[in-house]
Amino acid sequence: MTSSRSGGDRESRIRDIQSLLASNLQFRRFRPELEEGFIAHVRDRAQRLSRDSLWITIIMYLVTAVLGLWQVDRFSDPVYRDGNLAAMAWLLVVEGFLLAFVLSIPYLPGRERFYRLYASFSSGGAVGVLFYGASLFPEPYFNVFISYVVILATVVTYGVAGLVTRHTAVACLAAVLLAIAAIRSQGLWLDLGYLLAYGGLANAIGILLSFLLESRDRVTFLQSQLLALEKDRLDEYAAEVEQLSRQDALTGLANRRCFDETVTREWGLACRRQESIAVIFLDVDFFKPYNDTYGHPAGDAVLRQVGRALAATVGRPADLAARYGGEEFVVLLPDTDLDGAHAIAERMAAAIAALAIPHGRSAVAERITVSMGVAATTPTPDSVCGELIDAADQAVYAAKAAGRNRIVTAA
Ligand code: GH3
Ligand code: MG
Ligand code: MG
Repeated sequence: MTSSRSGGDRESRIRDIQSLLASNLQFRRFRPELEEGFIAHVRDRAQRLSRDSLWITIIMYLVTAVLGLWQVDRFSDPVYRDGNLAAMAWLLVVEGFLLAFVLSIPYLPGRERFYRLYASFSSGGAVGVLFYGASLFPEPYFNVFISYVVILATVVTYGVAGLVTRHTAVACLAAVLLAIAAIRSQGLWLDLGYLLAYGGLANAIGILLSFLLESRDRVTFLQSQLLALEKDRLDEYAAEVEQLSRQDALTGLANRRCFDETVTREWGLACRRQESIAVIFLDVDFFKPYNDTYGHPAGDAVLRQVGRALAATVGRPADLAARYGGEEFVVLLPDTDLDGAHAIAERMAAAIAALAIPHGRSAVAERITVSMGVAATTPTPDSVCGELIDAADQAVYAAKAAGRNRIVTAA
């Protein structure tokens, strides 16, 4: 029940993804469940990247910091040098803290639930602080110089934030507005037209690149989902085929192939543990006349009923009732001696008698009966399980010869 429901769910998901892939709509936002999966996929990849590139990021930051300070020192007008260096140092420290926060996100509590918050805060923070920092330099040359750094940093932020484009855009644009508000409230240098132009350009390039990457990511994501779902379907089919190949279609019992495999395995176990193993062979009496009288479909129904009665009689998990072929059944009873197997055979005869299926052409009763042969042995390393099965088979012949509707125990 559960598997067919989840199977149906899987099929509808496969159809959904296939039609998305075929329709070119994959560039748009998916429906909620799939979109959630995609957002998680982008998030997890960014966190892996962050973990894997921890040291290279730290080294690159330190190199950038040294280069930045050196550049400010080298190119500052001596009048502004101290102010410029102080602004640069402030920028490096605050951005350093933000970078440390970004790198620690994969280790933070609630890193999955609060990822969007963490990533928006650090991405927006990094961009906003740079915008604000550009105004901190007392020398106009550096105000302009830093704005190029801002463009570069904004574009990189869009690339590595680990958010879908719309979320990064919200964070970065909000950060730009906050930075403008902060600059104004502090009375720092501000050329609003220039700031909006390069801020707009930086965000436009970031959004465009991020959107192009995201579109490709969405297709790859859909393909990987499809692959996983199709693999799941194949695994289920394989399990079903395996199950069917071991089952008798008419009675639902184990089939001959399953019996052969099981008896070989149990024989080996019994040999190692030096336990007795038993087999009961059953053959329906006068079944050909039954078919001739009542028809094949009625005969089939009898086989199903007998099969159910046998399955209900064997109790232990290792016991196995199988259809051996035609109107013959076989029951494997590991860890059972001859007396125990005989007792079970009697219970089976009683269960079949209780079915009380009328049989007008039987020479031994007015209902369906069976002949049974019982054999048991404790295997030795040089014996083979075929001997046990043969012994039970011979016992069935003996039961037939002795008048049917009886149990014969192998000598
Ligand atoms: P005996 O008492 O000696 O066992 O005689 P019998 O008629 O039962 O045995 P026989 O071997 O002569 O005939 C077996 C019959 O079982 C013949 C065949 O038509 C029938 N049979 C075998 N498989 C099926 C099946 O799947 N469905 C039905 N309805 N009949 C089957
Ligand atoms: Mg037969
Ligand atoms: Mg028969």
